[in-house]
Amino acid sequence: MKISECQCGNRIFFNNIQCLACERTIGLCDCCHSLTSFTKSSDNTYQCDQKNCGKEVVFCSNRTAAICNSMILPESTQLCHWCEFTSVHPDTSQLENIQRWAELERAKRQLLFQLEWLDFPPYLGETGAEFPLEFQFLAPQTDDTGKQIPVYTGHANGVITINLMEADRVFRERTRLELNEPQRTLIGHMRHEIGHYIDIFYIQKVAAEKYAEVFGDPNAVSYGDAKDLYYKQGAPDNWAENYVSAYATMHPMEDMAETMNVYLDLISIARTANVFHYSKIDISPRANIDKFVQDTLKVAVVVSEFNSDLGLMPLLPEQLPQSVVDKIGFIHSLRGSNSNGDSPPTRPRFFFHRKKAEPQVQ
Ligand SMILES: [Zn+2]
Ligand SMILES: [Zn+2]
Ligand SMILES: [Zn+2]
Ligand SMILES: [Zn+2]
Repeated sequence: MKISECQCGNRIFFNNIQCLACERTIGLCDCCHSLTSFTKSSDNTYQCDQKNCGKEVVFCSNRTAAICNSMILPESTQLCHWCEFTSVHPDTSQLENIQRWAELERAKRQLLFQLEWLDFPPYLGETGAEFPLEFQFLAPQTDDTGKQIPVYTGHANGVITINLMEADRVFRERTRLELNEPQRTLIGHMRHEIGHYIDIFYIQKVAAEKYAEVFGDPNAVSYGDAKDLYYKQGAPDNWAENYVSAYATMHPMEDMAETMNVYLDLISIARTANVFHYSKIDISPRANIDKFVQDTLKVAVVVSEFNSDLGLMPLLPEQLPQSVVDKIGFIHSLRGSNSNGDSPPTRPRFFFHRKKAEPQVQ
């Protein structure tokens, strides 16, 4: 999903703002929802180069701080629809806050773009109205005594909160080591937290029984008790036989969010491999899940070996147990049929009910 072609034929990437070959402007089109090039038509306006679009567009107002590369209709509000999901952003008087915010927006855009192309969750009218999706990116503050008030990354009632410090590589790596995690990334946070959102607003509404069968009944175990127990005892020794991570053993909802993270990782790897003609993996809603996982893990093994050649971390585990593949298969079965995952949805319409209010500055 993150690679496309400029009008000149050059390959372009998700976070590009300009084509290195022809200098055309590059970004996401808010109208046709493609990663594309734009041809300048006047001082401030550009034309989308996608044949089925061709709309006159201008920069999203977050572009100036290099936070966003989307292009929007001149008559629309000043922010693109991806930026509008952010309800609170950090104070931009400090340069490092802008840089960290920009990294979080990139990961958020990547997540929303992927879900939209997957038609997942499918648009279901106003079902999301109960929990409109919002993101808040918060920097830790200090109280009157100078003590730092921590920001907890998490999801509650449609609001995804991410600690701005997660965009600091040193902080993130230190936390990863403390928690003994194989990976800790911004896109991983996004994919995990959206798992909680989709869980509550979609999956528990349309497939509660099957959900309980696959992950366990989320209402049967108190979340607080499960959390206390996990931090006291840790995961059982044999967790890898049935779970994607040690953390997933804590509670059915964490299992679901961790599995969602891995599903979206796998789809992303498969799509990239397809775009580079390395493989032809079916990522459509009709794909056989066992074959999809096997084919994608074959790619992951090769990349992990490349990483090992350079002393980098493996991409993914080499194997996933069948019980985990079955959980992934359940999530896969809940995708809509409005897109095959390889091109923008036929009806680009975002599924989340979102707020139109001006974002607040922390
Ligand atoms: Zn170009
Ligand atoms: Zn367009
Ligand atoms: Zn934007
Ligand atoms: Zn979680």
